[in-house]
Amino acid sequence: HAKERGKNNFQFYRSDMNASALERLELESDLRHALEHGQFVVHYQPQFCGDGVRLTGVEALLRWQHPIRGLVPPCDFIPVLEEVGLVVEVGAWVLDESCRQISDWQRLGIAVPKVSVNISARQFSDGQLGWRVAQILDSTGIDPACLELELTESILMTDVAEAMRILAGLKELGPSIAVDDFGTGYSSLNYLKQFPIDVLKIDRSFVDGLPDGEQDAQIARAIIAMAHSLNMSVIAEGVENQAQLDFLRRHGCDEVQGFYLGRPVPADEIERRFPSRWTQPA
Ligand code: C2E
Ligand code: MG
Ligand code: MG
Ligand code: MG
Repeated sequence: HAKERGKNNFQFYRSDMNASALERLELESDLRHALEHGQFVVHYQPQFCGDGVRLTGVEALLRWQHPIRGLVPPCDFIPVLEEVGLVVEVGAWVLDESCRQISDWQRLGIAVPKVSVNISARQFSDGQLGWRVAQILDSTGIDPACLELELTESILMTDVAEAMRILAGLKELGPSIAVDDFGTGYSSLNYLKQFPIDVLKIDRSFVDGLPDGEQDAQIARAIIAMAHSLNMSVIAEGVENQAQLDFLRRHGCDEVQGFYLGRPVPADEIERRFPSRWTQPA
């Protein structure tokens, strides 16, 4: 029985599995149950100025806090959420939760300048993202500049005219737009310059090879130069050591993010690491 297997077999939730219609249905109900019973949680990974010191923001990263399996990473369930269409609802929850969180932090005097939220393909194109963002900005009262939306190249390139229209609407509401995993997709430079994009995120796969991998180094330098010439800023993801950080800083990368500087953590750990400016040091 699919449900039973699902309970004790982690693999059940992997996207690469070719589930039957019945299994799909039960999986969908497990995920809906997770949404309704508050099993989804958002972790936050700090992002820093190129110097690796000043906090510029956090990226919101979804996890499933499963009562038996523990913390399930997004790669094990987001593709399934996407398949069954639940990603729109869960994505809206992540947006809401993240904006509420940054609003709480700011009220507490914890200076987190911005939160970046990943947007899925379906969420981008389902026609509701604009009003949802507007509604969340309105209900939380945060400065729209404190919200960044992360989209991948493939989301933008699937239907360029449609993407242009959606982006224009989103930009009017005030959040910034980042292109995630940049360099792994097939964006046309011609379109890239026409989209109202604020930030390029250099994909982790290029950061991996820094500083000694000659090709990765050239790609990273080229992305930084291109972003700057298009008036975009650039952030590197997946920074895991000092040598990578030094390289990126030397070549003018504006922001950095990675395990070397801080892993994704629950909100209260962000509070511990970046205490309120109103709190006296112990
Ligand atoms: P992403 O948006 O590219 O997020 C960065 C991923 O890289 C995160 O994995 C993060 O934990 C990981 N990472 C950060 N620094 C390092 C590092 O130094 N080394 C290594 N090896 N990894 C690092 P995570 O949290 O497992 O998320 C994976 C992907 O799941 C995300 O990739 C994003 O595409 C997707 N995702 C996560 N949360 C959401 C969400 O709320 N909505 C949607 N649609 N997608 C999400
Ligand atoms: Mg991201
Ligand atoms: Mg990324
Ligand atoms: Mg990535």
